[in-house]
Amino acid sequence: MPHSPTSILVTGGAGFIGSNFLLRTVPRYQDVRFVNLDLLTYAGNLLNLKAIEGAKNYSFVHGDIADESLVTRLFVEHAFSTVVHFAAESHVDRSIIDPLAFVRTNVVGTATLLDAARRAWEGGERDTRFYHVSTDEVFGELGDTGAFSETTPYDPHSPYSASKAGSDHLVRAYHDTYGLPVVISNCSNNYGPFQFPEKLVPLMIVKAAAGEPLPIYGEGANVRDWLHVEDHAGAIDLILREGRDGKTYCVGGRAERNNRAVVEAICDLVDEVLGRRPGTSREQITFVTDRPGHDFRYAIDPSKLENELGWSQAHTFGQGM
Ligand code: NAD
Repeated sequence: MPHSPTSILVTGGAGFIGSNFLLRTVPRYQDVRFVNLDLLTYAGNLLNLKAIEGAKNYSFVHGDIADESLVTRLFVEHAFSTVVHFAAESHVDRSIIDPLAFVRTNVVGTATLLDAARRAWEGGERDTRFYHVSTDEVFGELGDTGAFSETTPYDPHSPYSASKAGSDHLVRAYHDTYGLPVVISNCSNNYGPFQFPEKLVPLMIVKAAAGEPLPIYGEGANVRDWLHVEDHAGAIDLILREGRDGKTYCVGGRAERNNRAVVEAICDLVDEVLGRRPGTSREQITFVTDRPGHDFRYAIDPSKLENELGWSQAHTFGQGM
């Protein structure tokens, strides 16, 4: 059964992917009300949402997804039909330094939202849906071949991926135990506008432009699949409405690159944009000690999403960058 949202709680909408989702959907669905609940941690920035801040169908609430009384009150006040849950601590390096912050937001915060939805939607007569935005990192790492799919067993290695895996399991448990209508998507690495410059792509752009060293873990051989954030936002919009209840969808760009190749591509673009001699920025690349538990390779097989829901991406890696 397709889902038709009327009133959506978007969590973490001031972050990278959440803001791209709101910029796409708020103008597109004028009869749907959007409430953005965001704690505005270092990663959240309301300037990302400048284009929609005055929209009649959009409002912002500053608060914590783990605040049970706030979340309960919002469900009563706004009669949400839908939750699209982006809010998370999302940076692997930070999860190694402060793992409990990740457990609190990603696990306890998700459980708080699920339970509020369960109580608000009890009886099941309304058209409701809880959409959980997750990552391919829950699947662990691949060798030289193969790709993650919806049936890949979970095998997380960092506190970040373990906390996201925990939240995915809770979402499924609420579906299986209480019949909560849920969908989950697990996506590969995103790049594009409004990403906080601690992540590889914006960090390297900023450092390359400033003439600073460009640190790459190990030998830069770790492979990730890359997807433009607007294509991810489009996939979420589609899965939210057309995805099947209780199902998982893997989202990816069929664009595997090792970290070194990504940084070199950025260097060449920065040189071109700044009118520098070709190769200048590549001279800034340095290799630093690898981080612990660094997964070697991720790849996504998005064929279920392509075949079942007709999704396709608009950006290739080269053109998107
Ligand atoms: P982000 O770090 O850019 O944004 C996270 C947002 O959540 C911020 O606005 C922050 O203020 C907010 N937030 C954090 N803790 C909160 C709390 N306790 N209560 C309310 N708000 C809180 O993250 P992102 O890159 O936009 O990722 C969004 C989601 O997508 C995450 O769940 C992440 O696991 C998932 N994901 C990210 C990627 C990627 O490449 N960035 C890929 C796949 C999946």
